[in-house]
Amino acid sequence: MSETIFSKIIRREAPAKIVHEDELTMAFHDINPKAPIHILIVPKKPIPTLADVSEEDLPLISHIHKVAQTLAKAYECEGWRLVVNVGEKGGQEVFHLHYHFLGWPKE
Ligand code: AMP
Repeated sequence: MSETIFSKIIRREAPAKIVHEDELTMAFHDINPKAPIHILIVPKKPIPTLADVSEEDLPLISHIHKVAQTLAKAYECEGWRLVVNVGEKGGQEVFHLHYHFLGWPKE
């Protein structure tokens, strides 16, 4: 897998508005937001796509969902959505697994 901008952000070699970091993930604002709150949740492990996730990665996937719950609480979202684009045909542009957290806060 070739290096992506997300690996550089994880190593803090490229700028990003980071909102969360733990041993397994980093979350930062999408530069081209499609919702009032648009954050990317990215595993530090450079898995190219959701199709490449293996059995051993399942705890990581469940952890990403926990991070999404944490963001929803932190941003007081009334509604939110998690989106994963898979493959070029699925709209994926950056080939480092990421979950789009799209949130709509309470008015
Ligand atoms: P996808 O189409 O699912 O691969 O989504 C890639 C997302 O990454 C898009 O929504 C882009 O706006 C976002 N993106 C690309 N480069 C950066 C960056 N340097 N910082 C934050 N978000 C980025």
